[in-house]
Amino acid sequence: MTRKTRQKGAILRVLEDNDDHPTASWIYEQVRREIPHISLGTVYRDLKSLKQEGKIAEINPSGSLSRFDGNNKNHYHFHCQKCDRIFDVAEPVDTAIDIRVAQKTSFDVFYHRLEFYGLCQDCRS
Ligand SMILES: [Zn+2]
Ligand SMILES: [Zn+2]
Repeated sequence: MTRKTRQKGAILRVLEDNDDHPTASWIYEQVRREIPHISLGTVYRDLKSLKQEGKIAEINPSGSLSRFDGNNKNHYHFHCQKCDRIFDVAEPVDTAIDIRVAQKTSFDVFYHRLEFYGLCQDCRS
C-alpha cells in the first residue's frame, strides 16, 4: 500500500465513522492519531482528490466552512443555525421535481440539492 493510499484510506474511515459532516481541520485531528506526521495541507489535497473520485461529497453551507460527507449519494441535510451542526434527513430524494423542472425548462436536470434550516433537538430545549 502506498503512503498516499494509506492516507486516503484513513480519511475515508474517519468520514465513514462520523456522519456529522466534519470540517477538514476536524478530520485532520482524527487522522493524525493514526498517521502522526500527516499535514493539514495533505488532508486538504486528499479530500479534494477523494471528491474528484466521487467517493465523498463537499457541503458548503453559505457563509461557513466546507464540510465533508462520506455519503456521496444525493440526500437532504438539516443545518442547525445555533450549533452549526449538519444532520442527514431521512427523507427520500424527490426525483419527480427533477423531471418537472426538466419539462418546464427543457434543461437536462441531473440532480437537485435541498437543505433545511432551523434548530436541532439539543438547541430547541
Ligand atoms: Zn443545534
Ligand atoms: Zn450528509
